[in-house]
Amino acid sequence: MKLVYVDYNATTPLDEQVKKVFIEALELYANGSSMHEDGRLVAKKIETARSQLAHLINCEPSELVFTSGGSESNNTVFQTMNAHNFLSTSKYQRLYGGRKRIITTQIEHPCVLESARELAQRGFTVEFLPVDSKGHIDVERYKALLEESKQTDNPQQKVLLVSIMTANNEIGTIQPIKELCAYAHQAGALFHTDAVQAVGKIPVNVKDWDVDYLTISCHKIYGPKGVGALFVKSGVPLSSLIKGGHQEHGARAGTYNAPSIIAFGEACKIAQEQLDSYYTHTKALRDSLCETLLKHIPNIRINGDLEQGIPNTVDISFPGAEGEAILLHLDLCGIRASTGSACASGSLESSHVLVATGVGPELAHGSIRFSFGKYSTQADVDYICEVLPPIISRLRSFSTLEVS
Ligand SMILES: *Cc1c(COP(=O)(O)O)cnc(C)c1O
Repeated sequence: MKLVYVDYNATTPLDEQVKKVFIEALELYANGSSMHEDGRLVAKKIETARSQLAHLINCEPSELVFTSGGSESNNTVFQTMNAHNFLSTSKYQRLYGGRKRIITTQIEHPCVLESARELAQRGFTVEFLPVDSKGHIDVERYKALLEESKQTDNPQQKVLLVSIMTANNEIGTIQPIKELCAYAHQAGALFHTDAVQAVGKIPVNVKDWDVDYLTISCHKIYGPKGVGALFVKSGVPLSSLIKGGHQEHGARAGTYNAPSIIAFGEACKIAQEQLDSYYTHTKALRDSLCETLLKHIPNIRINGDLEQGIPNTVDISFPGAEGEAILLHLDLCGIRASTGSACASGSLESSHVLVATGVGPELAHGSIRFSFGKYSTQADVDYICEVLPPIISRLRSFSTLEVS
């Protein structure tokens, strides 16, 4: 049976060259913080990786903190805001002391949403910005909130942090980060963006965007799982989530995960070299899939924004067919995709992202995300287009029978 992997936004396979570097690095067992020669060699390789990552997103190597992945990086930013003592006793008091408002969006990754909800329970006021039908945030509402923050003299009403993802993992929509960040800074707020789904797909330039924090994950760019990074602009507050040793200048304790970090560096180098070809390749496949499916399956809806979205992602609703059922049938045919809806403890829960775009429950339940990658081929697209139309018409005929 043909196997087709179209779930690259969930995770990517290892790049062959990255795998080679990773395996070689597994031999380097010395602790990167040890003073002896073997330790220094590991430390040197970690610094090379740091430079490779810095080059990819255009920052200084000293502005990067290695973490265990995107989730940890995002948690670190929110926990820093929660470190009251940290913000009120340090040199940051004048800039941020007493600020209690946070702005984020309804379509963030769960690790941001949960972190934000936790802060809401600890006395912060959190605004979850709505999005339009294509997943773009309401910029007017955003600007109005920041304007309020500028006008008030009450520090508690002032915005401390804005956290808006660069590109959405389910529908791919890209937000105008540079513009949004500039508004936040005019109101004296810090700006964080989760760029996990943007890095390696579109140019990410922290100097140009001027963001304060930016999150990256290695396993979404053909590297190993369990490693990521947080960009922290020089001079911006950061409180370590993991307390312990002095690694990362005290920003993140724990013995360096050297093999993964070294492989991460290689993955960044390759992502940079392949950025243009990645874009053209994945976009061509995605557009081909959409064109053929629109022709061969009646009444489908493309969610998100193909024009202002990452090139590899499309989320499609098939009204009258249930997402989990489509997924199961695709899986039986060797096609590994994802639903837009998550199955929470046996009950079907609609995707928070699709719900936020105003898609009704029926469309939200019948949606599938196809996310392509650099190893995807036109033959993969052709196979999906051959297999999917009969699956949809079968499922639709069942659901009509049930209704009548
Ligand atoms: C995958 C993902 C994360 C989580 O990254 P991990 O390294 O798996 O913890 C965070 N945000 C987005 C948008 C993601 O797609």
